[in-house]
Amino acid sequence: MTDTHCPYCALQCGMRLSPNPAGGVPEVTGRDAFPVNRGALCGKGQTAAALLAPGVRLTAPLVRDADGLREASWEEALDRVAGAMKATAAAQGPDAVGVFGGGGLTNEKAYLLGKFARVALRTRSIDYNGRFCMSSAAAASRAAFGLDRGLPFPLADVARTGCVILVGANPAETMPPAVRYLRELRENGGTLVVVDPRRTRTAELADLHLQPLPGTDLALALGLLHLAVAEGHVDEEFIAARTTGWADARAAAMAHWPERVEALTGVPVPQLREAVALFTRTPHAMVLTARGPEQQSKGTATVGAWIDLCLATGRAGRPLSGYGCLTGQGNGQGGREHGQKADQLPGYRSLEDPGARAHIAALWGVDPGALPHSGSSAYELLDSLGRPGGVRTLLVMGSNPVVSAPDAARITRRLTALDHLAVCDVVLSETALLADVVLPVTQWAEETGTLTNLEGRVLLRRAAVTPPAGVRSDLAVLHELAQRLGHATGFSSVPEEVFAELRRATAGAPADYSGISYDRIAAEDGVFWPCPSPEHPGTPRLFLDRFAHPDGRARFTAPSHRPAAEEPDEAYPLYLTTGRTVSHYQSGAQTRRVPELAAAAPGPYVELHPDLAAGLGVREGELVTVTSRRGTVTAPARLTAAIRADTVFMPFHWPGAGRANLLTNPALDPVSRMPEFKVCAVRVEKAVLP
Ligand code: SF4
Repeated sequence: MTDTHCPYCALQCGMRLSPNPAGGVPEVTGRDAFPVNRGALCGKGQTAAALLAPGVRLTAPLVRDADGLREASWEEALDRVAGAMKATAAAQGPDAVGVFGGGGLTNEKAYLLGKFARVALRTRSIDYNGRFCMSSAAAASRAAFGLDRGLPFPLADVARTGCVILVGANPAETMPPAVRYLRELRENGGTLVVVDPRRTRTAELADLHLQPLPGTDLALALGLLHLAVAEGHVDEEFIAARTTGWADARAAAMAHWPERVEALTGVPVPQLREAVALFTRTPHAMVLTARGPEQQSKGTATVGAWIDLCLATGRAGRPLSGYGCLTGQGNGQGGREHGQKADQLPGYRSLEDPGARAHIAALWGVDPGALPHSGSSAYELLDSLGRPGGVRTLLVMGSNPVVSAPDAARITRRLTALDHLAVCDVVLSETALLADVVLPVTQWAEETGTLTNLEGRVLLRRAAVTPPAGVRSDLAVLHELAQRLGHATGFSSVPEEVFAELRRATAGAPADYSGISYDRIAAEDGVFWPCPSPEHPGTPRLFLDRFAHPDGRARFTAPSHRPAAEEPDEAYPLYLTTGRTVSHYQSGAQTRRVPELAAAAPGPYVELHPDLAAGLGVREGELVTVTSRRGTVTAPARLTAAIRADTVFMPFHWPGAGRANLLTNPALDPVSRMPEFKVCAVRVEKAVLP
């Protein structure tokens, strides 16, 4: 038996893998003792062992010849990748070689990938798919609090607060075991307000569901803050003692009076008043966001507006109160801390901070001046592929941008314009299918490594089974490539050795892991960062005494409403919003290969209101086309009164004709560089069958 964690989302549920008496893949059970999921697993976790079955995953490297991909030896495959990297760097400079990481990579992999880019490749061209996930929340938290940790408190606190406003989050489908805390909140007398353009399974649980137009969450937050001011719920003492910038935030809120906010959002004034009453009638309250408000071209400002509401009402930096982000990807938190972001060094250190550069350069044995500076964000990096002055040779590790990137046809064209594409993956993903070299790597239960869940709890995923012959770890791939690029040392393939180096890299940093060891994680079933010494207990709750800015005060951001980058018009009269379903995880590369999950959710669909469908002459199950300025997709209609009649919804897990990201808008947030996945303009028509 091996105690480990789920391969999928940021809840990182504890699970136990046991030998199967009937043979085959191990049995999976939820681990009661792990405090986050307390034994519960969703369908994805329960069936995760299917990914370990023979035939599901890659077991030999593939290289592309004139006839397509063929099996090859590891030596040939690695030599090809290293050779392409050297040739491109020699001909076009180091920045023409790029790496693209993932929010599912372990902390060790994220760390070593960042070091590989900056030391072995000396390139600025590194970013990762977490940019598409929680980057707006991270940017807003850093601006407001001086530090970003998805939840600055344990998830269990949600059950003990007085009111939770859940904005653009649907944990009943994305992380079902977390719903227990929402149910307990209500059983304990607390209230739940859900903000979502769709009446989701989570919204069904709420005391109050606000159903705004897509892209208006910022105006909604300012409207609630306006009412909080007008109705005397501002905590002047807290504002004076622990914040700066209130005058501007107050002015921004007062410019968003209730009737104006109703006109912008579609949420009636009485509902705005009810939400404020629920949020302010209790001394403890929280706002939690997820991708809904974050994946917008004003995502950082939108999250900032919700944080302003918390600060103005004294609901931050206190027990059982505050703002938090429900991070999505398995290592969405750790993946953004250890250096695979374009502008970051390990430990949340800035790549542009001379002190941070000196610290990391000394650890890595290089001159600080030799460390590259910040590069382009994920979408900009992908959009540069194959262009003059852009990236010409790319290594993708743990990501499937053909399905998950916005304006996916454009990004697919860019990937095919590369001189050389190498992909490390467990399965032959849609991106791997385009590669010149595919390197088959070990997966969750075949390797050991740490992840940091949405609470900032550092966890140990343990190897439970022996990987198939022919497969190597991502760390081993980086070790081998670094050697071929002239770095005989400095790139260990042993996870615990990499973690030991990561601990030194983060010492004294905001995300300090230096007191955390594999042995300690095992003994304590997780340790919260920051944890600056082996004697330190870890930090489950942040900001109780002071915020992380040098003066200890939080910052109001005082944003104003602005429209989405693309609003409906005559040609494209409807909003499209995208998201996830309960049976699949992200691009679906893993979950589409699990028979139970594929049977439960076999393909894409378009959710539309019956009134809209009637106007279009569309009945349940009939094919519709959805067209945006970037592309057209075809999928069956699913009629539901749970969605606004001016909005359609598509899940984004599938490739092919129903690939939702063919439609989405890559307009970027100016701060986080997050694309606007959640809002674009489309038209919907009944499909004309040939
Ligand atoms: Fe838990 Fe998420 Fe895995 Fe489901 S997918 S079992 S919610 S970690």
